[in-house]
Amino acid sequence: MLIMLMILAVTAAFGLNIQIKGQTGRKTVVEKKIDGIDYLAIDDLTPIFKCISKQEKADQRLYFHLYGETFIFLDSASYYTFKNQSYNAHFPLLSESGKYYIPLNFFTELLPQHFPQKVSFASGMLRIEDPQDYGVHVIVLDPGHGGKDPGAVGKKLKAQEKDINLGVALKLKVLLEKELGLQVLMTRNDDRFVSLGDRTKFANDNRANLFVSIHTNASKSTSSKGAETYYLSTAVTSDARAVEALENQVVDLYEGGVEARSKYDGLDFILSDLSQTEHLESSNELAGNIQQNIVAGTKSYDRGVKQANFYVLRGAFMPAVLVELGFISNPDEERLLVDSDYQQRLARTIFEGIKRFKYRYDRIRNT
Ligand SMILES: [Zn+2]
Repeated sequence: MLIMLMILAVTAAFGLNIQIKGQTGRKTVVEKKIDGIDYLAIDDLTPIFKCISKQEKADQRLYFHLYGETFIFLDSASYYTFKNQSYNAHFPLLSESGKYYIPLNFFTELLPQHFPQKVSFASGMLRIEDPQDYGVHVIVLDPGHGGKDPGAVGKKLKAQEKDINLGVALKLKVLLEKELGLQVLMTRNDDRFVSLGDRTKFANDNRANLFVSIHTNASKSTSSKGAETYYLSTAVTSDARAVEALENQVVDLYEGGVEARSKYDGLDFILSDLSQTEHLESSNELAGNIQQNIVAGTKSYDRGVKQANFYVLRGAFMPAVLVELGFISNPDEERLLVDSDYQQRLARTIFEGIKRFKYRYDRIRNT
């Protein structure tokens, strides 16, 4: 009896100790020996890693999402895929009574190699960075321009871009709060001037999950028409460059010109690498979802998803897009854009795009 208790105690002590950086205490995940090899049950790890695993029984795959990346394991195989490359875990993924087990060495040897900044293993302790929640909960809506900066001005009705942007954003806010329960923060709620840098700073300070900037387009030609959605890039086509110049000119006109511009250009070097590059793929996806819904829901001419170097998107540490609702310089579109019902329709279509994006990201988190 005593020997049995001792064996139990010894067995129970075998486990992987995990410590989340910046937190006190540790968690122990008990190992399971299968064919003489140490394994960990994926179900025991998901609460600690806040990761999700999705089992595809049909093709015998295990999807393991961690820190925004995906590992794909194949049942009974030692190989797994990460960022489109194949790796050898030396021991196979095993399933027993409907539970998946990953070899221990994957966590102590391979995971620290895949996430050197976030995961380390030393002296029997796996130290991990607190995995963040990738779900969409907080969104910043950014109605472009405001106050002394009217934005583009219509030719026929002399409508001001700042008012249209705000009108659509306020309607969108109501939908996001009521129907998705999102926390919606506005860079401005009324007709006031906010610098471009303060807009992204506001989003970063509030740890927003998404940043959506709303604008109205303008062109010298009165026949230019349609909606387009942008995400950030420093590689710009000449077509996009015109819109970029239009939206960035606030810096010259209202933020002190050369001095402010050099401030943003400085920001570019410091921040854009760290911030938007990490989110390019999801920004592109969000832009696509919004653009598709605007076009389907308003029958606007589809100018597509584009990339441009907008100051207001730089330095945003989250997926960020800029929507151009339509052309204020086109008399037909100007008439539509000032119409409250049409603004509501635009808000609804942008809402649908954000909803689709949110559902996908929340599913990655929660299934
Ligand atoms: Zn604008």
